[in-house]
Amino acid sequence: MFVTKIFTFDSAHFLTNYYGKCERMHGHTYTLEVTLEGDVQSNGLIIDFVVLKRIVKKHVLDKLDHQTLNDVIENPSAERVVLWIWDQLKDLPKLLEAEQDDPNLGEDIQKYFKAEDGKDFQKMDFGKTLRLHELKLWETATSCVVYRG
Ligand SMILES: [Zn+2]
Repeated sequence: MFVTKIFTFDSAHFLTNYYGKCERMHGHTYTLEVTLEGDVQSNGLIIDFVVLKRIVKKHVLDKLDHQTLNDVIENPSAERVVLWIWDQLKDLPKLLEAEQDDPNLGEDIQKYFKAEDGKDFQKMDFGKTLRLHELKLWETATSCVVYRG
């Protein structure tokens, strides 16, 4: 089964090796669709959307939102930006593991990581069930790139 969460961020960029108005600095409100594939776990979820949001915020939005993309990604066309985002998120099971170790995790999110039978906080093995399936990055309302790794 697939789950998708949608994010937006605002960034400036300009294109190099390009001749036209996009070679000048301008901005977009990008829409990013993150789709994961996984099995429904014992708690009824593939992934808690709150956890997915934390991961995308930490590894993507905090680095790109209200930034000049050229400072982060060389020649940041939508195609190159989506490749960069894929690179940030591709080790999703590892990012989830790290999330479980975050001491600032709220109580609600800790419950998500708890095994159904145990009272104690337990680590879940996401590696077998969850993977990044697709990224869709909308640069305008009518133009997007789709990447599946
Ligand atoms: Zn542009």
